[in-house]
Amino acid sequence: MIVRMRQMDIALVGAGIAGLTAARALQTFGFRVRVYEQAPRLGEVGAGLTVSPNATHVLNAIGLQGVLERIGMRPERGGVKHWRTGELTVEIPRGHDMLDKYGAAYYQVHRADLHGALAEAILAHDPDAIVLGHSFETLHDDGRRVHLRFANGAAVTADVAIGADGLRSRVRTALFGAERPKFTGYIAYRGLVPVASLPPGIIRPTSCLSTGPGRSFTRYLLRGGTLVNFVGLCERDDWAEEGWSIRASVDEVLAEYAGWYEDVRTIIRHTPPEGLIKWALFDREPLERWTVGRVALLGDAAHPMLPFLGQGAAMGIEDGMLLARAFAAAGSLDEALQRYVEARQSRTTWVMLKSRETARTYHSGRSENFQPGRHVSAESLGIMAYNPAAVPV
Ligand SMILES: Cc1cc2nc3c(=O)[nH]c(=O)nc-3n(C[C@H](O)[C@H](O)[C@H](O)COP(=O)(O)OP(=O)(O)OC[C@H]3O[C@@H](n4cnc5c(N)ncnc54)[C@H](O)[C@@H]3O)c2cc1C
Repeated sequence: MIVRMRQMDIALVGAGIAGLTAARALQTFGFRVRVYEQAPRLGEVGAGLTVSPNATHVLNAIGLQGVLERIGMRPERGGVKHWRTGELTVEIPRGHDMLDKYGAAYYQVHRADLHGALAEAILAHDPDAIVLGHSFETLHDDGRRVHLRFANGAAVTADVAIGADGLRSRVRTALFGAERPKFTGYIAYRGLVPVASLPPGIIRPTSCLSTGPGRSFTRYLLRGGTLVNFVGLCERDDWAEEGWSIRASVDEVLAEYAGWYEDVRTIIRHTPPEGLIKWALFDREPLERWTVGRVALLGDAAHPMLPFLGQGAAMGIEDGMLLARAFAAAGSLDEALQRYVEARQSRTTWVMLKSRETARTYHSGRSENFQPGRHVSAESLGIMAYNPAAVPV
């Protein structure tokens, strides 16, 4: 029976961080996968992502430990600052403390670097594993096989299909019908700023969150400390554009942060125009089911979440490992999907809801008399004390 499981054709839709982690984890356990991605090539998109110890365990287990050390930054300290005075109100030990406490390090990485490393590891094992230029449209499960159709006319048949196609998942629509993600009332500005262009001494501590009325500003270092990545989350009543690459202007972001302490405004002012983008934050309600027949969801397709706990990518990475472990442990496909969902659904739903709740403590009102709530983080909530390579499945 186990041999039959290992011989299955597994089709994954979507080569994001979650889909690629799942693919590499499945390969590690001896499965053959094909990942179908709509993009014509894997390129330099996105900016900073947090890889907290709960996700690092997975990347270590699939052979990326050395890569993370090379591409990731391990901040020694984190902190929370007051929006107007810049006073450090909370200090957070990171660095070796995290390794000692959780057995895995805390990294901040450029999404493109992690994405590239995952793709490289998958292709080194199987050069045909990632199929680009395939935009999934529909599927049909005949009870024995799943038939997938793509916009380019291609048709593929597999034993199981996993939808890892992100927030606007078409696999999710194929399973549960169309339901548009809701605009949450937050937009994100993201900037990448060369450290060499900044006055010395303003990037202390190296990883820092500042919260203020109706907005927050998080910044940390990437790429060997040569770049500052910042994300400014701002409350907004309306939003029309969609995408990951909508340009924003320095003046627009400075206007959002009027009255903030000077270091924040200095960082914004030094952002090169090509390094400044914005996107809207959308949300969905938790799903009651993640599987129908031979099809299941993974990553943002199953549980998109607000970024206030920095766990969006980490939850997708955790999913990938638990999916692979469930397949390795099970004697049948039904059992594998059931084990996967049981291991993942309640945890990710809880983190999704906690991310929403945390938004309210970050941005408790737009008035000038804003008082930050008690600092809540993935660590204070115990989210990092979870090892996806070791939990029961
Ligand atoms: C281009 C891009 C840039 C991002 N940048 C950041 C960032 O800077 N900071 C941050 O915190 N988060 C960013 N994210 C989001 C973050 O990566 C995810 O929230 C998290 O990693 C979960 O990943 P995922 O793989 O589930 O979903 P995603 O990262 O959204 O990946 C989904 C993948 O599926 C593909 N896909 C979608 N529809 C189809 C289809 N019909 N057929 C085939 N393939 C399809 C997409 O092209 C994408 O490669 C970005 C996501 C994307 C897609």
